[in-house]
Amino acid sequence: MAKYTSLKTVQKALLNAEVTCLELVQYYLEQIAASLDHNIYIEVYSDEALEKASLLDQKIQTEPENLGRLFGMILSLKDVICHADHKVTGASRILEDYKSPFSATAVERVLVEDAIIIGRVNCDQFAMGSTNENSIYGSVKNLADPGKIPGGSSGGSAVSVQADTCLAALGSDTGGSVRQPASFCGVTGFKPSYGRISRYGLLAYASSFDQIGTLTNSVEDAALLTEIMAGSDDFDSTTSSQTVESWSEISTFSGKAKIAYFKDALNHDGLDKEVREKMQSMIEQLQLAGHELIPVDFDLLDYIIPTYYVLTTAEASANLSRYDGIRFGHRSQAATDLLETYKKSRAEGFGTEVKRRIMLGTFVLSAGYYDAFYGKAQQVRRLIQQKTEEIFNVFDFIMMPASPVPPWDIGAKVDDPVAIYLSDIFTVHANMAGIPAICLPAGNFQNGMPFGIQFAANRFEESKLFSFSKYFQDLKLNC
Ligand code: GLN
Repeated sequence: MAKYTSLKTVQKALLNAEVTCLELVQYYLEQIAASLDHNIYIEVYSDEALEKASLLDQKIQTEPENLGRLFGMILSLKDVICHADHKVTGASRILEDYKSPFSATAVERVLVEDAIIIGRVNCDQFAMGSTNENSIYGSVKNLADPGKIPGGSSGGSAVSVQADTCLAALGSDTGGSVRQPASFCGVTGFKPSYGRISRYGLLAYASSFDQIGTLTNSVEDAALLTEIMAGSDDFDSTTSSQTVESWSEISTFSGKAKIAYFKDALNHDGLDKEVREKMQSMIEQLQLAGHELIPVDFDLLDYIIPTYYVLTTAEASANLSRYDGIRFGHRSQAATDLLETYKKSRAEGFGTEVKRRIMLGTFVLSAGYYDAFYGKAQQVRRLIQQKTEEIFNVFDFIMMPASPVPPWDIGAKVDDPVAIYLSDIFTVHANMAGIPAICLPAGNFQNGMPFGIQFAANRFEESKLFSFSKYFQDLKLNC
C-alpha cells in the first residue's frame, strides 16, 4: 500500500472503495511489526483496532451520512494520555500496571469522530526529556538512522508517523516535546496556544506549560485534529473559550508575511554550523518569495532555559507528589510503615531524570529559596511574555530552528543532562509565552538526518499559523 500523507486522501480512497478500513489497519499493523526494532510501541491494540475498522467499513456502506469527521484516521497515543480501560504509564515504573478508568477529553473528542487508536507509544518518563532515553521501555530509534535519537519526549509518537505505522500521533509539549522530535524525524509537529486543548487526562508534568499536540504528515491533518480536540472543557478550568475555527478549511496564506527571527539565536554559541547555514538559507529563500524577514533583539534568550527548568521542575515536584505508593501504581514490597511506603515506592518507581527534577523543584520552592528562584523565574517569564507580545505587535510570525543541533547519537549525552536541557532553547520559548508553534520539515542535514523549521504566531492566532504553514508546505523549500 502506498503511504497516505493526509486524511483527505484516505477518506477519498475509502469512499471510492479503493481501500477498506480493515485493509488500512492491517497495513499499519504490518508496518508496526516491520519496525519492532525501533521500539516505538509499548502496546498495540490489534484486535480492538481491527474490530473498529470492520464496524467503520459497515458504516461506510450503510450509513455514510453518519461517519465522523475522523473516519480513516489511525492514531497512536503517547503514553501520557489517558484512554479509558487502557494502560497509561508515563513510561515509568511507578505507573507500570496502571489502567486509566477514563479518557482524556482530547481522546474522547477524537474517538467520537471515529478515529481509531492503534496503540500506545513510547516516550520519556512523564514527558521529561529530549531524547526518549528516559523511558523504562528503552530508547526509541530514529528511522532515518537507528543509531540516532528520535528526539523527545514524544519520540515514539514522531517515529510512529515517520515509520508509517499510523497516519498521525498525539503527543504532549511542555517545552518542545512535539516540535523537536518532529524536527528530528521529518514530520509536522504542532503545539497549540496554551488553553486551546483540555489537559484533562494528560498526566501532568508542568501544568502551566503542558499542551497536547499533534504529529502528522501534513499541516491539514494537524489543523483538523487540533480543531476537533480544541475548545473549552468543564474538566479543565485553564481551557480557553476562544472560538475554535475551521482550521482544516482555512485557505493558504497569500500576501507578504512579516517574519521576525532572533539575531541572538543566529549568533548563538550553541548553534551548530549547519543549522546556522540552513537558517540563513531559509531566510534568503523566504525573502526571495516576497516576505519580510527581519532580525530582532531578544536579549532574554539565555534566560529561557534556566527559567523553564526552575518553573517546570517546581510544578513537577507538586504534580508528581500524587504518586505516593498509595493512590496509584507501584507500591514497594519492602516497606513496613507509611513513611517507608512513600519513600521506597517513589525511590523504586521514578527514574533518575524524574527524581532529579522533583528534587530541584522541591528545592526552588523551599522556604528561603522560593523568592530567589521560583519568584524570580516567574518574573522573568512575565518579561519573556511581554517581549514576545511586543514582537507580535509588529510581526506575523517568529521563525526559529526547532533545535540548535542535529539529532545526535543515542547515548552520546546521557551523562550530561545540562547539555540536553540547553538543546531545548528554541522550543521552550513558545511554551513560556503560551503561543502556538509548528515545526515543519525543511530538508535534511548532510548526513541525511531531517531538519525542521519552526514558526510561532501570537496567542490564539492558530488560523494565521495554519494558513502560513500550508503555504510553506506547498513551497517545498529545501535548505
Ligand atoms: N525537553 C523538555 C524537557 O525535558 C521538554 C519536554 C516536554 O515538552 N514534555 O522538559
